[in-house]
Amino acid sequence: MTSIPINAAELTAVYLSTENDAGVQSSMVIDFPEYLKSVSDKLIRKLDPEASMNLKVEDNNGKLIFSRISTEDIGYLAFPFPENLPKWSLLLSKNKPGFIATLWKAGSGIYLFIFILIALLMVLGFVFTLYTLNMELRLNKLKSEFISNVSHELKSPLTSIRMMTELLHHKRVQTEERKSAYYSAMLQESERLSHLIDNILDFSRIDEDRKKYEFIDLDLDELLRNFLESTRERLTDSGFKIRYNCTDTIRPIRADKNAILQVIYNLVDNAIKFSGKFRQIDIDLFSRDEEVQLCVKDYGIGIPDKDQEKIFDRFYRGDEPQRLGIKGSGIGLTIVKRIIEVHKGHLTLKSIPGEGSTFCVHLSIDKNTET
Ligand code: ADP
Repeated sequence: MTSIPINAAELTAVYLSTENDAGVQSSMVIDFPEYLKSVSDKLIRKLDPEASMNLKVEDNNGKLIFSRISTEDIGYLAFPFPENLPKWSLLLSKNKPGFIATLWKAGSGIYLFIFILIALLMVLGFVFTLYTLNMELRLNKLKSEFISNVSHELKSPLTSIRMMTELLHHKRVQTEERKSAYYSAMLQESERLSHLIDNILDFSRIDEDRKKYEFIDLDLDELLRNFLESTRERLTDSGFKIRYNCTDTIRPIRADKNAILQVIYNLVDNAIKFSGKFRQIDIDLFSRDEEVQLCVKDYGIGIPDKDQEKIFDRFYRGDEPQRLGIKGSGIGLTIVKRIIEVHKGHLTLKSIPGEGSTFCVHLSIDKNTET
C-alpha cells in the first residue's frame, strides 16, 4: 500500500495505491475537502465549523499514514474509512486556539484591546506607585537627616557659647586679651546661630509661600562692603583671605535687602565650609548689559557634575561633604535659588571637583521688581 499526498500543505487530495494477493493493483485519489465535509457534516456537527482542524490518517495498526497538525491537539475523534476504501481511519481534532486568539475572536479585537489597555494601566499604576513610594521614602530619609543635621548645627555653637560663658562667669579667664577673644568668639557663634535660625524660619516660609519681601532701591556694592566689614573678623580668624572686586558703577536694583543679604551669607558660608585647605574667596560684582552679576568663587572641594543641579533641591547634600564630615542642613541653596527667582533673576554655577566653585547671581537691573 502506498499513499502520496497531493498538494500536501493544503491537503486537497491523497493518491492511494494497493495490490491484492493476485497481484492486481488498484489506485484511487481521495478528495479530502469533500470527504471531510461529508463526515464533519454528518458526524461532528458539534465541532465549530469555522475552527481549523488537526487531522491524521492511520491504518488499523495505528501506523500514521499522513497528518496535518498545526497546534497541540486536544483529543481526536476517529472515523473509519467507508467500505470501499482501505481499512484506515481519519482522526480529527479541533485546534485549541490560544488565549489571545480566543480574545481576538470573541469580539473582533475589542476585548483584546480592552485587555491590553487594562494591563497597560495596571503596569503604569504599578510603576507610578513604586516611583511615588521611592520619592516619599527618599524625602523622609532626607527630612530625618535634616533634623539630625540641624540639631547638631544648633547644638555646637550653643555648647561653645555655654562653655565660654561658664569660664568667664567663674573668672577662670585671666588676661584681658583672652577675655576679649572669648567675647568675640561668643559673638561670632551667636551670629552663626542666629543665621541658622533665620535660614530654618525662612526655609519654612519660602516652602509654604508665606515669605514677604520688601522691595527697595538697593545699592549692592554698599551692601557687600558692609557685609564684608561685619564678617571680616570671622573670616580672618579662620585664616581666610577675601578679595572683593567691584570696578563698575553699579546701578541700584529693586530688591529685598535682607533676602539678598541672606543669599550672600549662604554663598559665602558655603565657600568657607567647602574651601578645604586653600583659604581664599573672591567676590566680584559687575554689570553686564542690563544685568548685575554677583559671583562668589572658592578654590575648594568643588561639585561633581552629577550633583550640580541636585544641590538646589531641598535637603540635598553632596556625598563628599558628608564623607569629609562637613556639617550642613541642605537648605541654604534652596533658599538662595528661591530668593533669586522671586527677584526674577537666575543662578549659574561653574565647578570642577578638586579645583573649586563659582556661584553667580544674575539680577536684571530693570525686571527685578515686585510682582
Ligand atoms: P549645606 O551647605 O547646609 O549642606 P546647601 O543647600 O547650602 O546645604 O548646599 C547643598 C550642597 O551643595 C552641599 O551639601 C554641598 O554638597 C554643595 N555645595 C554648596 N556650595 C558648595 C561649594 N561652594 N563648594 C562645594 N560644594 C558646595
